[in-house]
Amino acid sequence: MTDLVAIGEVMLELSSTDAPHALSTAKVGVAGDTFNTAVYAARHGANVAYFTQLGDDPYSAKMLALLADEGINTEGIVQLEGREPGLYMIANRADGERTFHYWRSQSPAREMLTTASAVALFRRCIERSKIVYLSGITLAILPDQALDALHQSLCEYKAQGGQVAFDSNYRPRLWQSHQKAKAVIQRFMSITDIALLTDEDEQNLWGCESATQVAQQHVATAVKVLIVKRGAKDVVSFTRTEGDDAFLPPVFIDVPQVKTVVDTTAAGDSFNGAFLAAHLAGKSLSVSISCANQCAGSVIKHRGAIAPKNATV
Ligand code: ADP
Repeated sequence: MTDLVAIGEVMLELSSTDAPHALSTAKVGVAGDTFNTAVYAARHGANVAYFTQLGDDPYSAKMLALLADEGINTEGIVQLEGREPGLYMIANRADGERTFHYWRSQSPAREMLTTASAVALFRRCIERSKIVYLSGITLAILPDQALDALHQSLCEYKAQGGQVAFDSNYRPRLWQSHQKAKAVIQRFMSITDIALLTDEDEQNLWGCESATQVAQQHVATAVKVLIVKRGAKDVVSFTRTEGDDAFLPPVFIDVPQVKTVVDTTAAGDSFNGAFLAAHLAGKSLSVSISCANQCAGSVIKHRGAIAPKNATV
């Protein structure tokens, strides 16, 4: 039985390995925020399914094989005829920072949940799971009609006892406007049970200057566990029981120091995957956060979103 269903987009990832914007060499991988979370959750023992749409090209076939190799259920993945998945490139800049370039506007994932049969498949896929995980990127790529179908399906899923986990992962370039992003994210935060947020996204979205302000921002939602990731700084968690107006005082969990950070791509995604797996396994909140810190700390020692299987904890 599936414990966790992640929904979103998986893309080809090209990471430049040498000079800024070099055209000669790039490593090819497969990544996407919710896909990354699904992979790390599965590696931490959770029973995971991934829901998306792909093409029928050889790269989509590779993605399906990779998901299967990670032990992730792919029954919810529809392959659209004559289509190809999106692509992004992580390029090195002269100053040592990285830039991200995307070719994803035509990707099949953007048409998820736009037909009655796709919505029915999604509902069947999540029916017996414990948690559905999505992000602000999942929301940003979907048309309004699909957002309505997703919201309605999740409301019914929650009524049957399911839980929604969400990371706002705010990427301004994916949204028509800041206003639209706030409205859509607010709509899904209001039905979120477990919020796995990052200080920077919350500052850019809502202007929150501290973890306490983040908790305050979301106090009127369904959120019962709210976690604020802050890079190398300690993680802040807030909890409350159903029906409580306010969160309990925050608990701070140390982030182990990582001496050589190679690439922080997927730090937050891997944190979320390991956290959800530990949480599903019945670990306490602080133990789940410590597992998540360990996992993210090992992922950032490697280039690209998905670290080699034997290299992560
Ligand atoms: P995101 O990738 O969403 O921006 P963060 O940068 O907040 O998320 O990082 C998520 C988690 O990754 C942190 O909570 C921490 O566990 C780990 N992490 C990120 N950067 C560092 C770092 N420099 N040193 C140690 N751990 C880190």
